[in-house]
Amino acid sequence: MKKYHCDVVVVGGGPGGSMAAKYCARGGLDTIMIEKKAEIGAPLRCAEGVSKKWLEEVDITPDPAWISTDMKGAIIRSPSGHTFKLDESQAGNEVGYVLERHLFDKHLAQEAGRAGARIMMRTAARGVIRDKAGKLIGIKAESMGEPIEIYAKCVVAADGFESQVGRWAGMDTSLDQADILTCAQYRMSGIDIEDEYCEFIIGGAAPGGYLWIFPKGNGMANVGLGILATKLKGGKTPIDYLNEYIAKDPRLSEGTVTEISSGMVSGCPGLDETVGDNIILVGDAARIIDPLTGGGICHACRTGMYAGKVLTECNKTGDFSKEALKPYEKMWRDRMEDKLIRNYMAKERFATVDNDTLDDLVLMIQDSDISEVNVWNLLKVVKEKYPELVEGFEDLI
Ligand SMILES: Cc1cc2nc3c(=O)[nH]c(=O)nc-3n(C[C@H](O)[C@H](O)[C@H](O)COP(=O)(O)OP(=O)(O)OC[C@H]3O[C@@H](n4cnc5c(N)ncnc54)[C@H](O)[C@@H]3O)c2cc1C
Repeated sequence: MKKYHCDVVVVGGGPGGSMAAKYCARGGLDTIMIEKKAEIGAPLRCAEGVSKKWLEEVDITPDPAWISTDMKGAIIRSPSGHTFKLDESQAGNEVGYVLERHLFDKHLAQEAGRAGARIMMRTAARGVIRDKAGKLIGIKAESMGEPIEIYAKCVVAADGFESQVGRWAGMDTSLDQADILTCAQYRMSGIDIEDEYCEFIIGGAAPGGYLWIFPKGNGMANVGLGILATKLKGGKTPIDYLNEYIAKDPRLSEGTVTEISSGMVSGCPGLDETVGDNIILVGDAARIIDPLTGGGICHACRTGMYAGKVLTECNKTGDFSKEALKPYEKMWRDRMEDKLIRNYMAKERFATVDNDTLDDLVLMIQDSDISEVNVWNLLKVVKEKYPELVEGFEDLI
């Protein structure tokens, strides 16, 4: 059996994995990143919407090569069709780009490669390797159909929502059914939408979640929805809900579907523990994703970068114990945890709200004078008019 030796093995070539690999390699660590698929960034399982402001924070320069559409604003549509349109000045940094994820993810992987990381495609982790004392010392994998072993001082689990690496290493990565959003999405063309506005349709169409229309230019868009797993009723699947909505919306009903994707996102504010002895979890594998919007690309990039920076420090002392990796835990919690908890509470509360109240909320926002629309400002308006909806987390608003 082929055996590889390195300082860090990163499992998963999504944004979290590539950023971790890049920052590890840049920090002088001998880094291997493995990806089970034959192509980074494909097939698509994402609506591809991101805001703009975090890109600078993780040192990614926007590039037209992987930007599909530069958004001018956003539209929020209530269950009975009241709309609230935000232009660029109001939408601020919350509205940004619709990406070409297959190119964005490849760009990040190429950056990791340029920094010195070795990337092994069609290589799937199958388990972890421990020494006689029980210490985690690497992973077993299957590479191009052959079993291999990769020995490393630390493992980065960047294996996305379906993550297994953390669990294999003995960490609790389980999710409550109530914290899982099941998603379905079509790439549609020939539809009559505003090409520069991302649209969010809340309430009835997608119980416990929302339906999105994220334009890709020329009458094309990612049209999808996320529904709380506990709210799927009568044997209906997310695709059924999506078809029902599309049939009723004359802007979409004549469109053509050219791609179908499905997937899941977690709706909790991150795992209680994201480090263990010789292991770090990043991005979706750590359940670090916005529980309200389901946006996780920026969280994956940030946590990947933090992991790479912390591992670089650990390499100086050779200590990759849980204790030594804790600065990673502190970094992401300091940066994101309050917002994740606030949005988790908001998600929980909004899942209980009926369509009439959602209609009311959109009308109320229409009448408000908020200058920049972001989740925080929207919740401030809600707090004023419906204090009961933010009870228990008003301090975070
Ligand atoms: C339908 C849908 C729509 C979404 N829309 C948006 C959006 O508009 N904006 C946004 O910000 N976020 C969105 N997200 C969430 C976003 O896609 C994720 O948060 C983001 O991709 C997380 O990055 P990651 O690197 O942690 O994981 P992933 O991108 O999932 O990458 C994990 C990688 O690990 C690989 N892998 C898994 N297991 C193994 C293994 N055993 N061995 C080797 N490789 C393995 C996978 O093949 C994959 O390439 C959406 C998610 C879904 C499902």
